[in-house]
Amino acid sequence: MKLLFLFRIVSGAALLLSYVPVATAMVAESNTSLNLGLGFLIGILISSLFFKYLHRHNRHKYQKMMQKLKSAKKNAKVIQQAMDKLAIEQQDNQDLLEERVQERTIELNIALQELESANQELERKNILDELTGLHNRRFYDQKILAEHRRSRRNITPLSLVVIDIDHFKSVNDNHGHIAGDNCLVWLAKIITKSLKRSTDKAFRYGGEEFCLILPNTDADGALLMAEQLRLQVCEQAFQFQDTEIPLTISCGVSTYFKQKGIGPEEIFAAADKALYQAKHNGRNQTQQQAITE
Ligand code: GH3
Ligand code: MG
Ligand code: MG
Repeated sequence: MKLLFLFRIVSGAALLLSYVPVATAMVAESNTSLNLGLGFLIGILISSLFFKYLHRHNRHKYQKMMQKLKSAKKNAKVIQQAMDKLAIEQQDNQDLLEERVQERTIELNIALQELESANQELERKNILDELTGLHNRRFYDQKILAEHRRSRRNITPLSLVVIDIDHFKSVNDNHGHIAGDNCLVWLAKIITKSLKRSTDKAFRYGGEEFCLILPNTDADGALLMAEQLRLQVCEQAFQFQDTEIPLTISCGVSTYFKQKGIGPEEIFAAADKALYQAKHNGRNQTQQQAITE
């Protein structure tokens, strides 16, 4: 705008000045001066018209460019707004996804923990007797095999004690099955307390029969343990509700030590034979039996 104003001043001044030679020539009545003056005036007029045209042309171009710039700015603003909106939506989606992943991870961890405790419970049930909490027959079969191998490898004695309640049927018959069950639990506690080493293990072999696997224990040691247990049982009566029920047990003991061709079955058979002997001899006693093939 300033340039346009300057241009107008300059062209006006030039136009005014151009009258001077023309007027002088007319006063002097000189043809040459008149021609020169007119030529100068026309030149000034043409050049001022040309500059005016140039200015208009440039202004038009400038306005067009400004319009384009404005619309480009407007478009850029719209695009920026859309991009901001998209970024917010993306962040929201990301947050939602992370929240869901976190939720699923927690759920998965809970399910894994439940599965683990269910597995542990299953393993526990697999080796324990439900009524007495002692190890069960299934675990006995595995344990005697492992201890027999260890005894053979280390050349150490391995003893087995088989325990059977005397006249247990009469407990059920006289006091009921629940009394019988409680009696089994009571005896299981006494048996557990009687174990001296962490390697000694007690099992409910079945019904009212129990057994002890005593690794690294010779025949004398096993006999002593069985006798101590037997005495403990007969010295304290089993109490069911208000009734005292006196009980006795019979025990059979066998000891494996270096014998060739002897396995877990022979060890059990010998202890069972000794138990039969104890029953046959009048019960409430412990008998020992040598292991034979
Ligand atoms: P013995 O002195 O010859 O061993 O006589 P017993 O009466 O103890 O032997 P018998 O084998 O004749 O009877 C065992 C009884 O044990 C029979 C059965 O009903 C009972 N019994 C076995 N398992 C259980 C149990 O889990 N609970 C109860 N209450 N009784 C059981
Ligand atoms: Mg019995
Ligand atoms: Mg029996």
